[in-house]
Amino acid sequence: MVFKKKFAHFKFILITILVAFTVVVCGALLVQLSSQNLPVQSTTKSPSNLVSPQPNSSSPVPSASVAPTNSTVGSANLDLAQQGSVFSQTTYGHFPYKQADPKRMIIVASYATEEYQRFESVDPEAGKALMKMIYAARDEGVWIILVSGFRTIKQQQKLFQEQIKRRGSPEAAAKVSAPSGYSEHHTGFAVDLADGQFPKQDITYQFENTAAYRWLTRRAKEFGFEMSFSPNNAQGVSFEPWHWRYVGSPDSAAIFANARNLR
Ligand SMILES: [Zn+2]
Repeated sequence: MVFKKKFAHFKFILITILVAFTVVVCGALLVQLSSQNLPVQSTTKSPSNLVSPQPNSSSPVPSASVAPTNSTVGSANLDLAQQGSVFSQTTYGHFPYKQADPKRMIIVASYATEEYQRFESVDPEAGKALMKMIYAARDEGVWIILVSGFRTIKQQQKLFQEQIKRRGSPEAAAKVSAPSGYSEHHTGFAVDLADGQFPKQDITYQFENTAAYRWLTRRAKEFGFEMSFSPNNAQGVSFEPWHWRYVGSPDSAAIFANARNLR
């Protein structure tokens, strides 16, 4: 009896030890497995965040969905490698732009010579800001006129071909005009402006010497406009005193985020 009772007691201790051992071994295995998994997840995620600030960097056309990712990077945090990857999308220094829907545009001006007349349209949002800016300038006796607004890919193709003929090569043409698919005018948020008192100075460097240009450099930012190709710009595009883009809304600023981050 006593022996039987002792044996039962021993059996109980043995089972307890076995259970405790199993629990410890399983616990150790679990800890090891989870510590192996964690770094795997973080290393696969972080390089893709670092290497490509844009999820769609393979896509030739930046879209509004891409840009916010980029704008969170910010120009101050954009290191040289990132600048390089952003810059690699450009052609002769020009970033690709998706053509906006022509039906969305509103006519804000017409441009006429003796031979022909064309209507100039822009995105409604940019149009409203442009009209406010034109009236504010007029109050100060300065006459800003719109010479060119939205352009289709096809229209830009024609313009760029003319520039190649005039200047001899695509490289030379790209200094003064963007290849089609790469013009800020495709977005409906870019405008070429002139001084109404000097109509013969439309789209010439003489524009730099007009009251309209001086007024724009002083006050355009109040209305959400900025010069796209300022002297010695990081894109390497020739100075275009007449060419301004609207960046006064989150959508328009996002479209130009790549170019703006380079400045
Ligand atoms: Zn332009």
